[in-house]
Amino acid sequence: MSEQKHKKLGEFDLIRWIDQTAGKGAHLTLGIGDDCAVQPQVAGRDLLTSSDLLIEGIHFKREWTSFYNLGRKSAAVNISDIAAMGGTPQSLFLGLGRPSDIEDSDLKDFISGFIAEAELHGAVLAGGDSCGSPGPLMISVTVQGSVASGEAIYRNGASYGDAIYVSGTLGDSAMALKTLLKGEFPSEHFASRFHTPEPRVRLAETLARAGWATAMLDVSDGLLADLNHILEDSGVGADIELALVPLSEPFQAELKRDSSLMELALGGGEDYELIFTSPLKDLDRHQDFYPYITRIGVISQTPGLRVFDEVGNKFPYLLKGFDHFG
Ligand code: ADP
Ligand code: MG
Repeated sequence: MSEQKHKKLGEFDLIRWIDQTAGKGAHLTLGIGDDCAVQPQVAGRDLLTSSDLLIEGIHFKREWTSFYNLGRKSAAVNISDIAAMGGTPQSLFLGLGRPSDIEDSDLKDFISGFIAEAELHGAVLAGGDSCGSPGPLMISVTVQGSVASGEAIYRNGASYGDAIYVSGTLGDSAMALKTLLKGEFPSEHFASRFHTPEPRVRLAETLARAGWATAMLDVSDGLLADLNHILEDSGVGADIELALVPLSEPFQAELKRDSSLMELALGGGEDYELIFTSPLKDLDRHQDFYPYITRIGVISQTPGLRVFDEVGNKFPYLLKGFDHFG
């Protein structure tokens, strides 16, 4: 490898490049370039802020993905948190701890992917911090968005009789991870659901505006583990029908070969679909939502989470979310 390849961009050259590459948010007076980003307050809107840390070796492996897609996913999983509140994403802040063995071109690919994903959802990279890392690649992302005052959808609003809905399909991302952990490469369908999840921003905005969802969150740890957060915070229980859990066609094909893979749809994380509850029982047939959401069960008065199979027997499952300290 040539000397040139190892010559790294200095911090200020990198920041100049980021500044030139990131778009300017119409909602900002100033994004990158000073000590703080500056955004005027808007009357009647609540500011939403969320933060995520992604550490190489815990949340991702460099050899599994491209830097561009890693950038996309780093933005997407944060934007998904804004969607989970029913909000509109606006600004992202990116803290980078860069190990010395990352080439400038890889870093630029990462940031380009990050910016592209932000733009897809109407958001901009509005600031951050950049530093060397003596260890793994570290990515800290903060996202800000907004929602009309009083319209944010919390986890604690589910009540008895509400229908439980999920968006999209579940388990594809976990299927990809299972394959990667075996040292193999997943097919295109599963790989793309794992590497470039799609935060359900528009669906969430529609729900918030209509006021139809009583509780909501995004599936990062697995359907049952995440639904359980709603149940605990709302002080209710749930009955889920296994046959209603939405699965993609490629997932169904795998399931025909090995029925134990259903665990991945119930317990596998990183789908970044939305789970929400609503007093409305046929939202899945409403023109704004068909075919993007599926009703999978109902909120019950009996505490706990029960999953029933096709013939009404209780389906045994282990409630295990991914523990990042584990
Ligand atoms: P400070 O010394 O105040 O931390 P910096 O020199 O680190 O300022 O950053 C200068 C500008 O560049 C700031 O606007 C900051 O938000 C932005 N910036 C630095 N690193 C990044 C990054 N990784 N992504 C986006 N913006 C960044
Ligand atoms: Mg700084």
